[in-house]
Amino acid sequence: MIIQTQSLVKTYRLGDSRVLALDGIDLQVEEGEIVAISGSSGSGKSTLMHILGCLDRPDSGTYLLAGEDVSTLFPNRLAEIRNHKIGFVFQNFNLLPRLSALENVELPLLYAGAAETKGRAEEALRMVGLEDRMHHEPAQLSGGQRQRVAIARAIVTNPAIVLADEPTGNIDTKTGEEIMAIFERLNSGGRTFIIVTHDPEIANHCKRQIHIRDGKIVEQKGT
Ligand code: ADP
Ligand code: MG
Repeated sequence: MIIQTQSLVKTYRLGDSRVLALDGIDLQVEEGEIVAISGSSGSGKSTLMHILGCLDRPDSGTYLLAGEDVSTLFPNRLAEIRNHKIGFVFQNFNLLPRLSALENVELPLLYAGAAETKGRAEEALRMVGLEDRMHHEPAQLSGGQRQRVAIARAIVTNPAIVLADEPTGNIDTKTGEEIMAIFERLNSGGRTFIIVTHDPEIANHCKRQIHIRDGKIVEQKGT
């Protein structure tokens, strides 16, 4: 089991009131699964991703990531886990504009102090079909190509899980389908993906689908 959560609760303080964003999430994900998390805006999807991605801690409940309890770790240790075990893909790509595709993909390896950064970054870009765009800057790439660079950056460190929050939210439907095909192809190689979307068509690409509402899992499809 790569992810195992029990009764995750997260609230945000907003002035004098509190917003209950996660209300007891029990989630298990096996290594090699591809899981869609869907739900309407405000249902808690991003909050859940932040906790699963070790960007934030729950108020209560437990989270075992690859068997390690990360629910009570201090931020510096959490950052270490994040750098080694998690790859992120965002709606807005979050690429650095002055760097080439290759340099963007190399960055997480440089942060991790890895050797062979260039060769590994080139290999990751080949895996998303961008070997002929390695020296382009983000502004010289289409939205779909930028997201493919971001996917290469997410997988280059060989993380235990890749989390994608609305990865097709800023691209057209056809390109979104292409992006999902890349996730499916990488998943068939054994990589674990969790993909947040509010789009049922996108969720349908994933073998397992989880629907959340008001911070609770209300429906699950697939195994
Ligand atoms: P989703 O990603 O599904 O749209 P979020 O996880 O972003 O949902 O938000 C869940 C709930 O928590 C919403 O009601 C949202 O308004 C609230 N929320 C999210 N982030 C904050 C924050 N930083 N401060 C206060 N409330 C927040
Ligand atoms: Mg969100």
